[in-house]
Amino acid sequence: MRSEFYKIKSIANIPKRYTVFCLVEDEYSDAADSGWVYMLALIDGEGERDDYIALYGIDQFGGGDVEAADRLVKLKYCSKCGKQMGMKYKVGIDPVEYFCECKDIPRDY
Ligand SMILES: [Zn+2]
Repeated sequence: MRSEFYKIKSIANIPKRYTVFCLVEDEYSDAADSGWVYMLALIDGEGERDDYIALYGIDQFGGGDVEAADRLVKLKYCSKCGKQMGMKYKVGIDPVEYFCECKDIPRDY
């Protein structure tokens, strides 16, 4: 839902090795399964605030809006087996929990 007027100055693809988690009924889930297309939008602050970057979601009917509650999440690959790790998004200081079927402990890199 469009909650306020905004002007998009520029739009870009989600960077490689990132995905979007969308908030649905208090729970975050990977938007890759949602059927939505996400992009990054540069929103004009129009002199009242700095320009800012927001996630912009386009639904299956082509309608788009800024999705302030959704989050950009980094994909990680398991250092042991090389597979893309599973992710769970929680609300908090360290919001993304990574895990792998092979039970390896994730390394930061
Ligand atoms: Zn693994």
